[in-house]
Amino acid sequence: MIRCMKTPFRASKETVDRLFQCNRISGEVWNRCLELAKETHLKTGKWITKSALQKGTKGIFPLHSQSVQAVCHKYLFARDAARKARKAGHKNKYPYKRKKHFNTKWANNGFKVFENGKIQLSMGDFEGKRQAPLILWIKELPEGEIKEIELIFDRQLQLSIAYEDGQEVKENTFLNRSAIDVGEVHTIAAVAENGENIIITGRKIRSIHRLRNKKLAELQRKMSKCTKGSKQWKKYNRAKRYVLSKSNRQLQDALHKTTKQFADWCMENEVKEVAFGCVDGVQRNTSRRKKKRVRRRTTNQKLSNWSFGKVYAYLTYKLEAKGISIDKYDERFTTQQCPCCPKRRKVSSRIYTCTCGYSNHRDIHGASNFFAKTFYGEIRALDFSLKNTKYLRIA
Ligand SMILES: [Zn+2]
Repeated sequence: MIRCMKTPFRASKETVDRLFQCNRISGEVWNRCLELAKETHLKTGKWITKSALQKGTKGIFPLHSQSVQAVCHKYLFARDAARKARKAGHKNKYPYKRKKHFNTKWANNGFKVFENGKIQLSMGDFEGKRQAPLILWIKELPEGEIKEIELIFDRQLQLSIAYEDGQEVKENTFLNRSAIDVGEVHTIAAVAENGENIIITGRKIRSIHRLRNKKLAELQRKMSKCTKGSKQWKKYNRAKRYVLSKSNRQLQDALHKTTKQFADWCMENEVKEVAFGCVDGVQRNTSRRKKKRVRRRTTNQKLSNWSFGKVYAYLTYKLEAKGISIDKYDERFTTQQCPCCPKRRKVSSRIYTCTCGYSNHRDIHGASNFFAKTFYGEIRALDFSLKNTKYLRIA
């Protein structure tokens, strides 16, 4: 499987300057992509093709040709992702923002790795002359074959290294299905076909978010009082970036732990297939509601804060490594409907109760209904009975 590793490195002052320069040049490549795409569209009314984009950026930047191509690929990827989202009814913009910096990538022919942790990044030829490569050192090489190296900026310049870890995807003979619901108060609520059900609390993640939003709002307030671009403004802006990157790391860590717990739970309960509550639908649904404006905004913030996409990506990665499949399904209306009678109601407390006598923990109720909707095709009582709910939290 391809894995990723982020690491700081050592390099001479001159090399570090040149690395910064690389990301500035990559930014220029990105801007060139934007210009070429615009020109093509104005002239022909058509979208620029991959080959035209590569031709239009070839040989004019002092970078390795694969590094230039990588920017083109990212541009095309962003454009196609926007097109797909727009087709699905979202209001995504096509890439248009010019950039001062852009991560530089070196693919298979663009670097050499030595056993002592030395890495040589090729700069290719420019104007008929071979450019001196960049030499840097990292403490520990990943165990496996390195596929790609990307120069990123996270508080400092760092390398993001993609490598093949040589691990095969494990086969299993599991049969159970599971449905998972990602919510605000609890990160994950899930039921499995053997009756086991689990709530992994997201209180930690919520507190990181809350603290971050508070700090950011404070800095934003201070920044609004000084002139944009002034010394003081820049100081606050740096602080803002620091808060963002620190909380991102904390969040990433918490999400990794949470999703690992869920993957372990799936193994314990011999789950083969996981249905993931699709949130796109939920988010669209919320923004359409126009009655209570204030409420709407806070709900939206909570949802977007939740980084559902990240949860899904982490889960996919961890589950597929264990031979468990995961897919997105529409989970709308699963929280309000009673599974035992045709009644619907809004839940405000932690327990969903119905006049017909049915009651269940709100989140497990939602996950159960989502299970029925996905695997039975309708919301109804489950074919198995639920055992006691297991609660987990991340430290
Ligand atoms: Zn009922």
